[in-house]
Amino acid sequence: MRGTIYVVSGPSGAGKTSILKEVLKKIPNLTFSVSYTTRPKRPGEIDGEDYFFVSKEKFVELVNSGEFLEWAEVHGNLYGTSKSFVESKIEKGINIILDIDVQGALSVMKKLPDAVTIFICPPSFKDLKKRLDNRGTEKEKDRERRLKDAKWELSHISDFQYLVVNRTLNESVKQLEAVIIAEQLRVDRIKDHMGLQDFFKESDNDVCD
Ligand code: 5GP
Repeated sequence: MRGTIYVVSGPSGAGKTSILKEVLKKIPNLTFSVSYTTRPKRPGEIDGEDYFFVSKEKFVELVNSGEFLEWAEVHGNLYGTSKSFVESKIEKGINIILDIDVQGALSVMKKLPDAVTIFICPPSFKDLKKRLDNRGTEKEKDRERRLKDAKWELSHISDFQYLVVNRTLNESVKQLEAVIIAEQLRVDRIKDHMGLQDFFKESDNDVCD
């Protein structure tokens, strides 16, 4: 029984990380895919929990050794999803959620068509700008770059299966949770996992219990 891969993407500042953190607390058997990055650590971030923080040299080494399911340059830094990390979880039947940029999400869609894809966007571009300003984690130049990249990212909404417009954290957490729960209830997934044909043959009564 293999786990399901959920890909959450959208512009930087849309609130993906905060939504994911809450959803991870609520849904059992769901784990976060810890990416590698060359971005400097922000205050409060923990190596191995938020990211694996590595040098550019180490990152290139990992690219060359085929360690990444996907990798991309995002807002001037390198980010990559560990193939072995993801594979080790889904092999054990653990569901995994990736917080990656749109380039990475498009690449995962091609490689793993079974992945469930969710786009998280802010209610408006003005709102996104305000969020990035309030977050205050980036310098002015970096904020401008993130806003420019957001325009391209927003043009790819229709490549995703689900859309969550992040108006309030509470509402968005509920919506992402609903997507994950609904996907777990899909008959094609249950059938693959449980051998539903055999299940029906042996149960004359109470088949839906
Ligand atoms: P931040 O620097 O704000 O943590 O992340 C910047 C952007 O990089 C976000 O949009 C985030 O989703 C994306 N990102 C984080 N990890 C990965 C990854 O492994 N691959 C790709 N392609 N993007 C990532």
